[in-house]
Amino acid sequence: MTNCQNHTVVFEEAKRTLQFLAETGCSGFECSKKSLDTVNKWGKKELFSKETLETIQSDLGDCRRCKLSNTRKNIVFGKGDPRARLVFVGEGPGFDEDASGEPFVGAAGKLLTKIIQAIKLTREQVYICNILKCRPPGNRNPEPDEINKCFPFLKRQLAVIKPDFICTLGTFASQTLLETKKPISKLRGRFYDFMGIKLIPTYHPAYLLRSPDKKRDVWEDMKKLMKEY
Ligand code: SF4
Repeated sequence: MTNCQNHTVVFEEAKRTLQFLAETGCSGFECSKKSLDTVNKWGKKELFSKETLETIQSDLGDCRRCKLSNTRKNIVFGKGDPRARLVFVGEGPGFDEDASGEPFVGAAGKLLTKIIQAIKLTREQVYICNILKCRPPGNRNPEPDEINKCFPFLKRQLAVIKPDFICTLGTFASQTLLETKKPISKLRGRFYDFMGIKLIPTYHPAYLLRSPDKKRDVWEDMKKLMKEY
């Protein structure tokens, strides 16, 4: 059962209890129509937030919040199931992603597709995004000011999607979400908590293309993910 389903069951239970108490004339409880209307809304996303991926994307607009806007062709917002149980978070768009506006469509993206298929899922069933939404020139490393400007949008996306699992791909995504400077080789291989979501870091597919011997480690991480999923 997902977190969301768990919450729904708890809300339904509480709602039924309060309705029962109101209908049976139990005293000591505030069971006015207004209160019951409020209880009826419990567990519904809109009580907490009206935000959707669309409103976040529209707020992002033709973003000029950092210097990467000067050189990018397209903003790569993220793609996949807006209610995915699993979100993959990479570093930033590369050449192919910048050209197409879609995440992980180049050689590393093809390898990510194979990894997703290996855990018996499809790209359509997960959500794929990056720490940065614009390509750093020449695929250089993200800089702190760029991450600081862009990461809040990803956090909002994750708050809307509410996945059960996040898999961070590579050093920058893992270090940013886990607020650490530890190398990915030390971070991978176990689960962490991020905003109440189980997060497992693993190597970036682009790194696997250069170091295929690390594919075995990624498979070990994916087996742990599949077991919990
Ligand atoms: S990287 Fe993020 S913050 Fe910077 S311009 Fe692109 S969308 Fe805006």
